Parts: sequence; C-alpha cells; structure tokens
Amino acid sequence: MDLTKYVANIKDFPEEGIIFRDVTPLMKDHNAFKETIDRFVIWANSLEAKVDIVAGPEARGFLFGCPVAYSINAGFVPVRKPGKLPRETVCESYALEYGTNEVHIHADSIKQGQKVIIVDDLLATGGTVEATIKLVEKLGGEVIGIAFLIELEELKGRDKLEGYNIYSMLKY
Ligand code: IMP
Repeated sequence: MDLTKYVANIKDFPEEGIIFRDVTPLMKDHNAFKETIDRFVIWANSLEAKVDIVAGPEARGFLFGCPVAYSINAGFVPVRKPGKLPRETVCESYALEYGTNEVHIHADSIKQGQKVIIVDDLLATGGTVEATIKLVEKLGGEVIGIAFLIELEELKGRDKLEGYNIYSMLKY
C-alpha cells in the first residue's frame, strides 16, 4: 500500500514557505492506519532485544506510539511539553530557529537498563527526538530504536541521531 497517498501536503502551514505533512487522513483510513502500525510493529519485533517501553513525544507520538506499545506488549511513556505532567519530571531543552522548546518525562517512568524505543510521526530537524533520547538516557533507559512515519530528509535530522537504529517509513 502506498501510504503517501494518505498524507496531505499543506502549503504555507503553519507559516509561509512550510509544507506541512498532515497525517490525519492516514489515521482516518482504517486500512492505512493499520498498515502503518503493523509496519512499526514488524520493525520493533525485529530489534535485537525485547522492547520494555515505547516513548512518544506530544502529541502525534502518542497516536502512533500507543498502538505500537499495545501490539508489542510494551509500556507507553509520554514525553510532554512543560506543565502537563502532574508528578516529578526531568526535562531537556532544545533550540528552535527562534527560541527554545522544553520536553519533560516523569522521573519514575523508566528504570535503569530498560530497553526503549521512541516513536513519532515525523523527523524534521531532529531537535525533538534528540531531546527525547536525552530524557530516556538520563533515567538510565537504553534507546534501542527510533521510528518515524515520515522523514523530511533535507532537514538532516538523521545527522543528530548518529549511532542509533533509525527507521522511517516515508521519506520526503
Ligand atoms: P523536529 O524537532 O524539527 O524534528 O520536528 C519534529 C516534531 O515536529 C515532531 O514531533 C512532529 O510531530 C512535528 N512536526 C514538524 N513538522 C511537521 C509536519 O510537517 N507535520 C507534522 N508534524 C510536524
């Protein structure tokens, strides 16, 4: 199945000059969504170790990460923007074109030595996933794989992820 048919390409959103890749049509189509999750699951099951935890960055990392976690009998841990998680967190900030962003994870969500994969909808500059890796590693988790539905290759996010096992389903 050609999953690119289910990704809408929105010109000049959220700003002029950006083509936003909108995955909501893919999620709305049960065959395309199932195919997407199945492909993530095949990849996750091919890793060298059993996955303990799937970490997903807010918000679309939840949408893909949760069904993957359910399917591979792993737990799911949300990575969130500031002020959203109710208990003690650890945080990591990363640079944007203008300013910085911060991501948080519950301090007790990953135990030393647990095998973790990170799942998100899209790899752009790699800032979000790089910060997510740091959070997982601060808690003693081992990132054994990172998966995206979409990779925007010209933004070279992959360069920030050297040494990690990366899977991206659709490349633009
Ligand atoms: P990065 O940190 O620059 O790699 O941006 C990746 C994050 O921004 C992911 O969590 C995506 O959900 C979001 N993102 C960036 N561009 C797009 C897009 O075109 N469509 C959907 N999400 C995007």
